[in-house]
Formats: sequence, structure tokens, C-alpha cells
Amino acid sequence: MTSSVTPGRPVVASPWSDRANAVVAICWVLGLGGIAVSWMQVSNEARFADQQPWVVFGLGCVVGAALAGGLWLGLGLKAVRVLERTTADRLVRVLEEVGDRRAAASGVRRVVGAEPHVAVVGLNRAHRPDCQLVVGKDAVALDPAQVREAATCGVCA
Ligand SMILES: [Zn+2]
Repeated sequence: MTSSVTPGRPVVASPWSDRANAVVAICWVLGLGGIAVSWMQVSNEARFADQQPWVVFGLGCVVGAALAGGLWLGLGLKAVRVLERTTADRLVRVLEEVGDRRAAASGVRRVVGAEPHVAVVGLNRAHRPDCQLVVGKDAVALDPAQVREAATCGVCA
């Protein structure tokens, strides 16, 4: 199979590894095969007592296939969350750099310390609490001394 890239659209990788796809495909094939075997065995038996083990087997196949699907979805969601987090962190850093360049080019430096500021945990720039670079991130309040020592955000500053 060939893949084509449409200009202007980002290439989105699958959140599932080939191994996860292979494991879930095997589980589903086994589950569907088990259901088919169960169906055929049940249809050959006239009494419920003789059918019962195959019904239980078939239900076990359904539950197993469902669990495999749930695990597969969980792995995909986990991968998406990790990608989301790393992309957001990368975006914050890029926007901070762009903001710094814009502020340096304009020659304007905002005076900070007169209003509350926060810093994203692990980063050292002072932001206004409503800054788009802080929204959704773990942030701590900075006291005025910390704000004076910290680099100012080029976006909200
Ligand atoms: Zn900011």
C-alpha cells in the first residue's frame, strides 16, 4: 500500500504500534473463530445441558474479544495523550521563543511585578494567569521577587 501526503496537511501517525494491531487482530480472529465453533457445536446438541458448555465457551470468546478491543483502545488513547502533551510543550516553547523575538524587535519591555504572575512547572518564564501558554498546564504563583528574576513571556507580556 502506498501513502500519499497532501500538501498543507500534517502526516498523522497511528497511535497504535504494529505489534498492538497484530495482537488485537489475532485476539479478534480467535474470538470470532471461537464464537463460530461454539455456534456449530450448540446447533448439534438437542439438550440444553449438552449445549451449556459451548454457550459458556462462546460467551468467553465474546468477552475475550471485547477485552482485547478495550485494551487496544486504551493503548491508543494513552499514545494520543502522550503525543498531545509533548506537542503542547513543544508549542509553548516555540511560542515563547517567537514572543521573545517579537518583544526584542519592538524594543518594548513590559514592567512586571505589579500584577500576579504564574510560571508553568518546570519552566522559568513569568506569565499572566490568563496567558494562553499557561491554560491547562500546572502552574505556580510567583511572588514579586520571583517575577523580577524570571524571564517574561513574550506572548502575554
Ligand atoms: Zn504568557
